Amino acid sequence: MIQKYDFLVIGGGIAGMCYALSVANSGKGKVALVCKTTLDEANTAKAQGGVAAVTNLAVDNFEKHINDTMVAGDYISDLDAVKHVVCNAPKAINALVNWGVNFDKNNNGEYDLHREGGHSDFRILHHADDTGFEIQRGLMEAVRQNNNITVLENHYAVEIITQHHLGVQVTRRTNNIECFGAYILNPTTQKVDTFLSKVTLLATGGVGALYSTTSNPVIATGDGIAMAYRAKATVKDMEFVQFHPTVLYNPAETHPAFLITEAMRGYGAVLKLPNGNEFMHKYDERLSLAPRDIVLGPSTTK
Ligand SMILES: Cc1cc2nc3c(=O)[nH]c(=O)nc-3n(C[C@H](O)[C@H](O)[C@H](O)COP(=O)(O)OP(=O)(O)OC[C@H]3O[C@@H](n4cnc5c(N)ncnc54)[C@H](O)[C@@H]3O)c2cc1C
Repeated sequence: MIQKYDFLVIGGGIAGMCYALSVANSGKGKVALVCKTTLDEANTAKAQGGVAAVTNLAVDNFEKHINDTMVAGDYISDLDAVKHVVCNAPKAINALVNWGVNFDKNNNGEYDLHREGGHSDFRILHHADDTGFEIQRGLMEAVRQNNNITVLENHYAVEIITQHHLGVQVTRRTNNIECFGAYILNPTTQKVDTFLSKVTLLATGGVGALYSTTSNPVIATGDGIAMAYRAKATVKDMEFVQFHPTVLYNPAETHPAFLITEAMRGYGAVLKLPNGNEFMHKYDERLSLAPRDIVLGPSTTK
């Protein structure tokens, strides 16, 4: 079967749903949003701590947030990308709020901002300790109510369509590779349908579930990256994987492993080896409060 849309969004986490809502609301056309399981199963729904954005310009500013981000990234982050994300974060937060996402406020009606490791100021917006769940909930409601968006759950994208599928040879050196949509497995019919679209967005999340122990749900298998790579796109920066350094390790447990939030260490929890000895003094003067990359280094090599 062939289905035609103006926009094909593959992935129903925060990235896919925000894009779908943006284009659907701007009247640019009909959107198909596909996800390989149910719409509520995404990394987005698992996020706990909150989202960093400069929302109180009386005490905070973009320069500080940019600097904090560069320090946390050991100065290897792309400065233009960091500036773009930091400076557009307040706008993105407003969009989430307008689509129905709630962030906690204090008695004065201002956002109740938290501070987390690596941030020089209070700038973490949150919803209790289930921020991601609230974001997923709010966006799912907005998406389901939008007449321009068709949600297709349990639809598994397997390949994006390029000139290659019209018999043209495409290599990694071809510089005008075009995407015409995707082949998507319909689990009910057990057939692969052709979805044609003017614009296709891959928003399939990360690769965390490839690791034997991970805080990520099972959907995080890097499908979009693999599809893009097979379509001869250039894939870069694959060595950058963000890890939660502390989870409850249970070899018998299936994904995801229960996250032991870093807030625990903020409240005094101490990292120890299986024999009960502390070890962080060998690596960083901040001890158990050292940032993720430092904590992960020794804890994976010991
Ligand atoms: C336990 C945990 C805690 C976290 N805490 C925080 C936090 O406090 N703050 C923060 O900023 N970030 C946090 N994160 C990270 C954050 O959740 C992710 O970076 C973010 O949600 C990624 O969103 P996404 O839309 O890119 O992908 P996801 O939310 O993972 O969505 C991916 C979507 O792609 C779909 N998909 C994948 N493959 C296919 C396919 N082949 N066909 C069709 N659909 C497909 C999936 O079904 C899913 O709908 C946390 C993550 C975890 C796991």
